[in-house]
Amino acid sequence: MPPRYKDPVYRPPSEAMSLLIQVSFSCPYNRCTFCGMYKGHKFGIRPIEEVLEDIETCGQEYGNSVRTVFLPDGNSIFLPTDDLVRICEAIVDAFPGLERITSYGSARFVVKKTAEEWKRLRGAGLSRIHMGIESGDPETLKKVKKGATRETFIEAARLLHEADFEISEYILIGIAGPERSREHAVASATLLNEVRPHFVRLRTWVPVPAAPMYEEYESEEFRLLDPFEALQEMRTLIENLECETLLLTDHVSNFAAINGKIPDDKSDMLAAIEEALKLDRSDFRPDIIRRL
Ligand code: SF4
Repeated sequence: MPPRYKDPVYRPPSEAMSLLIQVSFSCPYNRCTFCGMYKGHKFGIRPIEEVLEDIETCGQEYGNSVRTVFLPDGNSIFLPTDDLVRICEAIVDAFPGLERITSYGSARFVVKKTAEEWKRLRGAGLSRIHMGIESGDPETLKKVKKGATRETFIEAARLLHEADFEISEYILIGIAGPERSREHAVASATLLNEVRPHFVRLRTWVPVPAAPMYEEYESEEFRLLDPFEALQEMRTLIENLECETLLLTDHVSNFAAINGKIPDDKSDMLAAIEEALKLDRSDFRPDIIRRL
């Protein structure tokens, strides 16, 4: 029997090859105004016996071929630590070739677990947390109702680093609009410098009708960045980024593929942005341009 899922199920692009073991439904916060992923869907925790059953059947079916496992939905780290530990241990037992178990984890929920709990989870096999910072700009964080401050992100990163987790952080290009683009880019870089994530993944905000911010976009209260403004914002962010990290634009929403190690590849990445800025507006993908 294949694993069972309840829609909607999301995973980061970098988990495309991962086996998805759903442990919760929707998001226990669900109030970020830019996010439409789980709007209209009630948060719930899947019965642990059902999760363990799925792990067992997947183990029999796929065994050695599974290298990575991702635990949907939006904030599976919300689960009681004892249950998450049981789930991770069962995954480790079921898949002998396993290299990593990962989950989404908002900073507001990361800080609700103690350092000891994070170490237990790491010991059980959970090894990477995907976390949306979105912006380091306090005004923007408040406006989009992220439910976390710069301090929350720094504390969450401290707990995760201490327990030897890999941290994958997401920044939303364009989320502050043209008015606060520079503040957003600089503040995001300075926050990342303190958080020191292993990965920085850039996404460009795309309006989706389920997101509360969509109304602001529709009424023209909120303007999207055009491709050049988005690239300039990306350039400011990279210029101010000083921590050792791998920066990736591994998402279809972005206007250019800018990837590399900071600080080693920084000048090449900035040069690639300069080249992209020389393009004509019509050179950018029409399905994204249409929304502007
Ligand atoms: S961005 Fe993350 S925390 Fe915010 S509502 Fe969406 S899934 Fe929940």
